[in-house]
Amino acid sequence: MSSLAAVPAGPAKQARGGAPADRVRIAIVGSGFAGLGLAIRLKQAGIEDFVMLERAADVGGTWQANTYPGCQCDVPSHLYSFSFAPNPGWTRTYSRQPEIWDYLRGLADRHDLHPHIRLGHELTGASWDDDEQRWHVHTSRGDWSAQILVDATGPLSHPKLPAIRGLRRFEGKVFHSAEWDHDHDLTGERVAVIGTGASAIQFVPRIAGRVGKLHVFQRTAPWILPHTDRPTTRLERRLYKALPLAQKAVRAGVYAAREFFLLGYIKDRRFATGAERVAKAHLRRQVPDAALRAKLRPHFRLGCKRILLSNDWYPALMRPNVELVTDEISHVHGRTIVLADGSEREVDTIILGTGFHVTDPPTARLVRGRDGRTIAQASQAGIQAYRGATLAGLPNLFKLIGPNTGLGHNSMIYMIEAQLNYVIDALRVMDEGDIATFEIRPEALAAYNAKIQSKMPGTVWMSGCSSWYLDANGNNTTIWPDFTFRFRHHTRRFDVGAYALRRSADVPRTAVAA
Ligand code: NAP
Repeated sequence: MSSLAAVPAGPAKQARGGAPADRVRIAIVGSGFAGLGLAIRLKQAGIEDFVMLERAADVGGTWQANTYPGCQCDVPSHLYSFSFAPNPGWTRTYSRQPEIWDYLRGLADRHDLHPHIRLGHELTGASWDDDEQRWHVHTSRGDWSAQILVDATGPLSHPKLPAIRGLRRFEGKVFHSAEWDHDHDLTGERVAVIGTGASAIQFVPRIAGRVGKLHVFQRTAPWILPHTDRPTTRLERRLYKALPLAQKAVRAGVYAAREFFLLGYIKDRRFATGAERVAKAHLRRQVPDAALRAKLRPHFRLGCKRILLSNDWYPALMRPNVELVTDEISHVHGRTIVLADGSEREVDTIILGTGFHVTDPPTARLVRGRDGRTIAQASQAGIQAYRGATLAGLPNLFKLIGPNTGLGHNSMIYMIEAQLNYVIDALRVMDEGDIATFEIRPEALAAYNAKIQSKMPGTVWMSGCSSWYLDANGNNTTIWPDFTFRFRHHTRRFDVGAYALRRSADVPRTAVAA
């Protein structure tokens, strides 16, 4: 089991498997933007008693895992970074994965987070101990006892494999875009790509020129807008370095413009029709072949699924070695993908650009609350979290980027920072009030959730497309249906009245002292 240099070691409690558990005040699971951001804010608040558990071999979360060719953020660089850690040196207006990953690793170095980070520690279970008023946290390489558990695993951390009969027995190579196998040489191969979402439209143009034959299986044609990405100039980088206010102003301008997009999603379709016209013109301009264009025309309202940006997706599909397949896949047999119409495509490699378990993450089956039920069991009617962070029956737990914090129009980093404010303020309230435990009151959570859900009807996300914003019941448990500055406003303080609290004095002495 690992030791925890920076964390004061308390007397150990016997953990599962017989080894003693390290005691910490806070256990953070995940070291992506949310986990690292929280660690930085904790240190800035003078809190050192925490550990960050990361299953991967390095920090970075989704930006560590997604190394597929062409991986790039679709939110402008100056906004897709922490306001408290600006980077004047972004080399592109929309950063690519290696640069974002470098940024995150740089944060871990600069803020001296490594003594807190445990790499290769995958969460295998966590349960609330009501006697001790603590979390028992189990990982693949050791156990922890924590007063507070923070789930910072994010919605894009568990690749989703499609339920295609025979896929698991495919006799060639198969991998998911978030687990790209860089040792596998695609040169000259017959390759199938399943999915035409945000990831696929980025990696298909990068591999199309290298492979022998490429079959792209599209179930739903996405809306594609032209990309405005470009390299930043040396002058810009120098300016932002010398004049941080200039970078802040650019950030604020990009933020404000993006907030405006929300109107097209929630209020009035006319705000979105302009963007639809631009996307249609982009398709017309780039795809002269009418038959191919018809296949690529979206049949749902722009914004219902994530809007994609690309200048090279359509040209890649027009290459002579690339085929866009829109017929349904029936099954996989040997090395062959068999379509519903009986036609076949024999391939060497299948690449799955099929997204993530967003509304049904595996961690929900690993975390057990006060009544012994997992989050998944307790949320069968749809997951709910107060301020997107605290869940009923799960004391002292924060979920970062939890339910209804996702965005289609602005930067998730802004939402993460809002939640970090909330967590830091909760810790202040706990310290000042000598509070050992908080738990969201079910009625406060129900009222909060009802308000969010009341805003959903009439929004573009509920306009009839199937998307990962919706759960198995058709509820939108993913998107924040309002301006992001409102979320920031609501999370600036830990609203203690919404919580049932237990003071340290009321926790049995043995448990407090242990
Ligand atoms: P995604 O957007 O969920 O796309 C998955 C694709 O796979 C869709 O085209 C989907 O079709 C298709 N698919 C799923 N199951 C299938 C099946 N059984 N048969 C055929 N097709 C199937 O996933 P993603 O592209 O990995 O992106 C996920 C999210 O990651 C994005 O929405 C975005 O938030 C984030 N991301 C962001 C960036 C960025 O630029 N910042 C880049 C990559 C990813 P349907 O549409 O018919 O369901």
